Amino acid sequence: MGALEALTGLVRKGGDLSPYLPMGLTGRAEFLAAPQSRADLERVMAAAKADEISLRVLGSGHHVIVAREEVPGLVLVLAAEAFTKVEVRGEWIVAGAGAPLSAVIEVAARAGLSGLEHLVGEPGTVAGALRLRVPEGEDALIDHVQRIRAVSASGRSEELDAAMLRQGNNSHDPFLGAVIVEVEFQLDVQDQESIDQRLKRCWIERRIKEPLRNNTVGPVFRGADVTDLLRKSDVARRGEGCAEVCDRNPNYIVVRSPANAGEIIGLIEAMRLRVRERFHVDVERQINIW
Ligand SMILES: Cc1cc2nc3c(=O)[nH]c(=O)nc-3n(C[C@H](O)[C@H](O)[C@H](O)COP(=O)(O)OP(=O)(O)OC[C@H]3O[C@@H](n4cnc5c(N)ncnc54)[C@H](O)[C@@H]3O)c2cc1C
Repeated sequence: MGALEALTGLVRKGGDLSPYLPMGLTGRAEFLAAPQSRADLERVMAAAKADEISLRVLGSGHHVIVAREEVPGLVLVLAAEAFTKVEVRGEWIVAGAGAPLSAVIEVAARAGLSGLEHLVGEPGTVAGALRLRVPEGEDALIDHVQRIRAVSASGRSEELDAAMLRQGNNSHDPFLGAVIVEVEFQLDVQDQESIDQRLKRCWIERRIKEPLRNNTVGPVFRGADVTDLLRKSDVARRGEGCAEVCDRNPNYIVVRSPANAGEIIGLIEAMRLRVRERFHVDVERQINIW
């Protein structure tokens, strides 16, 4: 028996991912762990390392499509209280990696702290949003990050250098396989009325330019010009079973019930081929397919 399998009670073999996936998507993990504490997380990660088992982390799954019946290796879910708490400490917000962005925005606004309002209406967890924006640094989320606590691939707690991440290292995984555990945001003190107004303005702007619904996945492809390229390729409203390209922003896919991962992936491939046909450009997929 491997080190991971020996952690009975902490790790489930053939664990069901469905409760952690959005829009009724389903899937299983060869090994699934939902640790209750950082110490448990370290133990599970050290065991995976000892067994040379690959590791993935699932946030709220809005940027992950589970393509296989069983995802090989270990899938970690940070949904326990230890990883979802949001606290105010002076001008700082300390948020668990698995905390929903909406909770962080709400706590910050109530504490009179400004800087995250532009994220209003975006689904996902703190770590999911951060992973998506580094190294690009889009929307300046990383600019508000003071400290990132993580567990390294070998199972040791460490602090990641936010300044280095801000500069970017052109890698698609600048976190080098570390699991983000907690993020400290440094925000600006502002009066409640200004924050509320900014929240309203950001909400309206988002409604105009992006899909707001929670039954959406994306961004599908990487790059600043990709939305324009998709628009010019006339992919809007193309569909494949449950999946349809979003009319407001063609880099997102709206998913109807019953959701089917194969159909979403089929549509992603059709979008990619369409851009290639029209512009002889190979767009790079950003959404994770497991
Ligand atoms: C309606 C809508 C609007 C959106 N608007 C924007 C926008 O304006 N700007 C923008 O940039 N994005 C936008 N997004 C994308 C959004 O940011 C991501 O879908 C979401 O933040 C992903 O978070 P998640 O918790 O669902 O992560 P998941 O989809 O679960 O995971 C995403 C990635 O993060 C990794 N990850 C998750 N948790 C951890 C962890 N603890 N440690 C290390 N890695 C981890 C996963 O392994 C995976 O690689 C939007 C998405 C939607 C559906």
